[in-house]
Amino acid sequence: MLHPHDDSHTFQFCPRCGGPLERRVLKATEPQRPVCTRCGFVFYLDPKIAVGAIIRSEHGRLVLVRRAIEPGYGKWVFPGGYVDRGEPLTAAAIREAREECGLDIRLDALVNIYSYPGRAPVIVVYAATAIGGTLAVDDEQLEAAELETSAIPWDELAFRSTHEGLRDYLDGHRHPIPG
Ligand SMILES: [Zn+2]
Repeated sequence: MLHPHDDSHTFQFCPRCGGPLERRVLKATEPQRPVCTRCGFVFYLDPKIAVGAIIRSEHGRLVLVRRAIEPGYGKWVFPGGYVDRGEPLTAAAIREAREECGLDIRLDALVNIYSYPGRAPVIVVYAATAIGGTLAVDDEQLEAAELETSAIPWDELAFRSTHEGLRDYLDGHRHPIPG
């Protein structure tokens, strides 16, 4: 039986030696781990850390982008993406905003952190203010827009964390940024 947050079955070969992986119980309380039958490497699959920034523009509107890639093609999300290994969370949020909507931002607060059963991503969402740049898109977005809060397309948001992040933001959730 699969552990509810286990997606290890999607991997078949050892990343170290290329040998075939076999799922083994290493600890009774933990999910089965992919173990290399050739070199014994245990392939621990970690959560994936993502960041997002809910950006208030100079006009007091919120910046959303429409995704040009799956998952969530054609749906709206605030700018964000995966954190690179070794990259501080705040630097990742600022980088992603620059890449995805062309804006330089200042991070004002932590809104919340989201994780869900069976899902690898952990999403850290910040409240931010645009301090420069020009609204633009790269090849991962169809469009970028500044929207009044009353115009947020709640039925066309890309992810559960998009919906919950915007809801918490509008409810006034603000925490100091750790560090
Ligand atoms: Zn191996």
